[in-house]
Amino acid sequence: MSIDVVETLQDLVRIPSVNPMGRSVGGEDIYYEHRVTNYLEELFTRLGIAWERFTVAPLRDNFIARIDGSKSPEKGGKILLLEAHQDTVPIDGMTIDPFKAEVRDGRIYGRGACDIKGGMAAMITALARLAESKPRKRPTVVLACTINEEHGYSGALHLANLFRGKLPDLHSKLLPRVPDATIVAEPTKLNVVVAHKGAVRWRCHTGGVATHSSQPHLGDNAFYHMARVLQVLETYSRDVVPHLSQHPLVGHPTLSVGLINGGVSVNTVPDKCTIEIDRRVLPGENPETAYRHAVDYVNSVVAAGTPVTHDAPFLQSFGLNDDANGPLCERLGEVIRQHDGPGERIGVPFGTNGPQYAITGSPTVVFGPGSIDQAHTCDEWLDVGQLRTAADVLSDFVRQDW
Ligand SMILES: [Zn+2]
Repeated sequence: MSIDVVETLQDLVRIPSVNPMGRSVGGEDIYYEHRVTNYLEELFTRLGIAWERFTVAPLRDNFIARIDGSKSPEKGGKILLLEAHQDTVPIDGMTIDPFKAEVRDGRIYGRGACDIKGGMAAMITALARLAESKPRKRPTVVLACTINEEHGYSGALHLANLFRGKLPDLHSKLLPRVPDATIVAEPTKLNVVVAHKGAVRWRCHTGGVATHSSQPHLGDNAFYHMARVLQVLETYSRDVVPHLSQHPLVGHPTLSVGLINGGVSVNTVPDKCTIEIDRRVLPGENPETAYRHAVDYVNSVVAAGTPVTHDAPFLQSFGLNDDANGPLCERLGEVIRQHDGPGERIGVPFGTNGPQYAITGSPTVVFGPGSIDQAHTCDEWLDVGQLRTAADVLSDFVRQDW
């Protein structure tokens, strides 16, 4: 049974799978990934392709499908993993109907069209075509559609722990070991991403003594302490962080303060102030070490007695390192160029699920149709030509054994 990649993407866009991004959500029927997972289950049943699903959180299941290779993985056959996330960012402020999947002027519009239901539709199409005509010598091809990429990578982490055998009482029949190569779908304009940054994020607090603002001298203003901490962080981000290290494809590390909170009312001296700090780490840089370096810098430079504390990080993710994915990048790039795509070896600043698989020892690259410039936007869209090319590239690639 053959399927059309554009129709498949339209189906996927019309099924909301919005990630609440940590917000508490009520009865609205657009949140979480379960409807997309149900669609995948029905589709792969119709295609006659074996599948499994694994619950990671309520209404949030990872989905795995597989087409066996000419040689079983137990007898030395290779496993190629294709991975795409099922969730999208929220729809607040969108200027188009997020779930209509309208095709206009060579573009498909809708939330997730670019990030990354288009990449998922291309991967599904490649599997459907492979199921129809299997070459004599081919790898085992596994498609994994994971949950919660946009807010903490927990689906990818669960999948990686599953195939490494690190989850008690859980075992995947279809993906029984670390794959020999992994392609993660994200918008790369048909280039091959071999490196990207990771991140570490944490909260920093200053304290004080609350009092009525008519007699501020009796209190201790947490904002004034935070103002001094912020100046230290500004200097650190400008004069220190960029010089810590350098990577030829992704540049230097960065630090940014993105959120500030505190205060009760204008007539109360505040006794608490909190900021959230985002430090982007280079491939190969340890997020924990980067966090520790920043905390030590602040504590050593800010005036003695400043009541400043740092929480442990609430997010830590490694970057994607280009030390093991060269041959995979070359093979994929060659197929892309055969289809008149760019297929360049590049680095990008944004994070993906990729490092979760790379650190298990599976050579991993990121590839997909569309540009990150159109992801998460108020009129998100994907170029239909790029979508069709991505499907053709992957269809060819899954037929290659190596
Ligand atoms: Zn994405």
